Amino acid sequence: MGTVFAIANQKGGVGKTTTAVNVAACIAEAGYPTLLVDIDPQANATVGLGLAKDERPSVYEVLGGEVPAQDAVRATSIPGLSVLSAHPDLAGANVELPRRPGSELRLRDALAGVREGYAHVLVDCPPSLGPLTVNALVAADRVIVPVQTEYFALEGLASLLDTLKLVQRTLNPRLAVAGMLLTMQDGRTRLARDVEADVREHFPSLVFDTVIPRNVRISEAPSFGRPVIHHDPHCAGAEAYFELAKEVASRG
Ligand code: ADP
Ligand code: MG
Repeated sequence: MGTVFAIANQKGGVGKTTTAVNVAACIAEAGYPTLLVDIDPQANATVGLGLAKDERPSVYEVLGGEVPAQDAVRATSIPGLSVLSAHPDLAGANVELPRRPGSELRLRDALAGVREGYAHVLVDCPPSLGPLTVNALVAADRVIVPVQTEYFALEGLASLLDTLKLVQRTLNPRLAVAGMLLTMQDGRTRLARDVEADVREHFPSLVFDTVIPRNVRISEAPSFGRPVIHHDPHCAGAEAYFELAKEVASRG
């Protein structure tokens, strides 16, 4: 049965979507059927894989119980990679979900019907600790926490870790941190080296060995609707995501 990874951090712009899209693409490229679930109303992962963000049924209808997950899964142009796509209406789910009993379990229960078909399932979370992210954490076996290599990197991680512990205690005892991932590292600066040392010291053994460099090819790729490994397979960003995907798979 596929391991479910949630890619979570309530900060925006830390590399969650980029990591979800590129790790999913690398794992699929290696021959393992992979499902990417986009539960961010901004639908950046959906669009970054070349799909429209207003198609129905989307994960919104799946969370609402209107459609089983298998009827909403869409193929991508990458062999082996499927998507449960987002829709802007998901923004409303943040209000609607808490009004329904058992709403934290919606994604977990929906994925139960499809996850055996995949080696790995990756869930790209929105930048908040609201009901959508809680659904992802309840559905997940492992969490990947992207952390931007910048001065305020550690800020907010304490509340994220508190939320993880709460979910572990109450709703999902299986949940474990797969790793924290340093992203957008500008290797030439002293600051980048200091931040990396600081994060590794605070969270010994939790930080992935692979560090994702700041790389313009990574930021261009979504505008072409493809992951960086197809946009420019030999750039430093693509190579880093290939390495990371191996680490992620080994921590499943
Ligand atoms: P999040 O999903 O956490 O909000 P994104 O993955 O969307 O973050 O990344 C935020 C922005 O930074 C996007 O424009 C993305 O293309 C860019 N970006 C992400 N990772 C890198 C990187 N390693 N190098 C350069 N730009 C990056
Ligand atoms: Mg995002």
